[in-house]
Amino acid sequence: MNATKRDYYEVLGVGRDIDEPGLKSAYRKLALKYHPDRNPDNTDAEEKFKEAAEAYSVLSDPQKRATYDRYGHQGLQGSAGGFDPNAFSDFSDIFGDLFGFGDLFGGGRRNRNRAQRGDDLRYDLEINFEDALHGLSVEIQVPRTEACARCSGSGAEKEDGLVTCPMCHGRGEVLYQQSFLQIRRTCGQCNGRGQIVRRPCTQCKGDGYVRTQRKLKVNIPAGVDNGTRLRLSQEGQPGGNGGPPGDLYVVLKVKEHPIFERHEDDLHCTVPINVAQAALGAQVDLLTFDGLQNVKIGEGAQSGATVRLRGLGMPRLQGSGRGDLFVHVDVRTPSKLTREQKKLFEQLLDTLPAENEPHEKSLMDKVKDYFM
Ligand SMILES: [Zn+2]
Ligand SMILES: [Zn+2]
Repeated sequence: MNATKRDYYEVLGVGRDIDEPGLKSAYRKLALKYHPDRNPDNTDAEEKFKEAAEAYSVLSDPQKRATYDRYGHQGLQGSAGGFDPNAFSDFSDIFGDLFGFGDLFGGGRRNRNRAQRGDDLRYDLEINFEDALHGLSVEIQVPRTEACARCSGSGAEKEDGLVTCPMCHGRGEVLYQQSFLQIRRTCGQCNGRGQIVRRPCTQCKGDGYVRTQRKLKVNIPAGVDNGTRLRLSQEGQPGGNGGPPGDLYVVLKVKEHPIFERHEDDLHCTVPINVAQAALGAQVDLLTFDGLQNVKIGEGAQSGATVRLRGLGMPRLQGSGRGDLFVHVDVRTPSKLTREQKKLFEQLLDTLPAENEPHEKSLMDKVKDYFM
């Protein structure tokens, strides 16, 4: 047998001083050219493929190569064991996924029946400002696919619907025996399931899934904001091959309020007062989410002054308590005056010091006004 065996370097078409990358490249070319997938029922190509594989397995192993260089084929007999298919651990490194080579020698076989988690779903829900503050419970209808109840997702009728795959006899993979090579591939007929549908389920037409509207109750906690995502565990798309379903994310959009504006957990609103109220101080009734509040504005309030009502803001979604409500004062100058009012202002004008110096930008003034 050894007498007719071709020289390994000759098989790969390389010189005896070829380096490792050159060896790999030469082998790759040959293996691609003679691969059984590309040459069905071609025994000559199959022989060449095996020959190249054997040559590469020896020459890519420095120890075996040294032995071969010294003693030829003879040297590899006995303990060295000639060609060892398991030496091909880096086979898939060379070819990647080109032929599904992970299956080639039975090692690192990918399991196409692996359980897969279902996809996550997103559901956009718009709620009122008040609902964000108080929280609420709503029922939503989520369109999604569900495993068909009639066939439990198999896609086949219960009675005689599934039959053992004739191609792989239920193993889910097909085995090519080629002397020293064992090529395992996922069965193309049943996609590795080992069974094929003979009588498709009448409900889902063989898909195994049906489109449904699922009613779900969503508990929205107080304090949610625009963009808050609520996760409903395992309410997403069903998983494959017995895997768990994905999650459903309810993404909230909170409608704006005509009076109150939210910043983090605080609320802000603006209350107009007239110059007399600003000068003398005032008490203003403000309808808040906690009922009517009497807001005390101190004497000499400037426009932009703020009154802080502690604990009347939004509930904190993370943590406890609530934010604050900031009432911003907007001093309005009357634009229409009666003759009497005009007279009074004229009297004021005589007594008040004239203000005609331009402003000097002062940070301290702003800070002072912020908390009064
Ligand atoms: Zn099959
Ligand atoms: Zn079905």
